[in-house]
Amino acid sequence: MTNRALLVLVSLFFAMILLSFSGKNNQQLPPKAGVRTLIIDPGHGGIDPGARGSFSNEADVALAVSLKFGKAIEKEFPDIKIVYTRTTDVMAGNKRTKDEGLRYRADLANQSAGDLFIAVHCNSAPPHVHKQLVGYKKGTVYVGKGKKRRKVVKKIPQYRYWTTPNEAKGTETYIWAVSKNDAKVNSVNKTEYYGEIDSTSNESTVLELPDPSDPVEKARMLIYAQQYFRKSKNLADLVETEFVNTGRVSRGVKQRNDKGIWVLQATGMPSILVEIGFMSDVEEEKYINSDSGQDEIVQDLVSAFRNYKQKLESKATSNSQ
Ligand SMILES: [Zn+2]
Repeated sequence: MTNRALLVLVSLFFAMILLSFSGKNNQQLPPKAGVRTLIIDPGHGGIDPGARGSFSNEADVALAVSLKFGKAIEKEFPDIKIVYTRTTDVMAGNKRTKDEGLRYRADLANQSAGDLFIAVHCNSAPPHVHKQLVGYKKGTVYVGKGKKRRKVVKKIPQYRYWTTPNEAKGTETYIWAVSKNDAKVNSVNKTEYYGEIDSTSNESTVLELPDPSDPVEKARMLIYAQQYFRKSKNLADLVETEFVNTGRVSRGVKQRNDKGIWVLQATGMPSILVEIGFMSDVEEEKYINSDSGQDEIVQDLVSAFRNYKQKLESKATSNSQ
């Protein structure tokens, strides 16, 4: 071997080492913005069917839509990793209580280093109960105590009770309210508060609402407020806009911080909970169960996701210039 050939070989060797280092460096520095891992969380499941409609339940509809949504994302964005909190009709993580399931959902999202968390749920509103006086019936009642106790005949009012379906319908997207004192937080009263009543159990004490005086919870709330709140709000707005464009009734973006949506704050990433329609409305129950309805919902979610991702990426490019 000539000296010259040796020199070429040695330089090639060093060049390869250099190349392999720079390759490694590229892998270690992936683009910061954008979404690399998407967590899709079909609400409820297994022991917890969620809201019940006239022929279907929330857990099944949420799962069907979530799986279709994941498939559509996979097709359009093959580089994005999708993590589902459940893919069959079980409580997430095969847990025995709803609270353990919620905890599992948050832990899985965090351990998977998710960049975005989307929970899919269906709403439900209780029927209106009506009461009408229809007449009186004679009845005996006892009044007084001890020796004064006596029987009296009294007119007892008779009522008729009946229910009519609740007219509530449409979509809602929830984000975690940063603070209960936040002026933007919707005041939640009983007539307006439907969604996740059934997902908040009192059977277990595993999961307590975050206690703002606990330093760990306080830190997590602060991080959510500083880094994820605005992004969550942006995505939630985009989702509801897409629903409106499809002709759905949008009940808007709502902020809450109760146990039912605790998982949104417990995930270290932007997070939203989408209520895709009301199980309690006959027409909407049919729509969210139909293939065409589910396809529309999925397309709305994908469009919102696409816009969200583009916004993040264009911001990152303009920041780096
Ligand atoms: Zn739900």
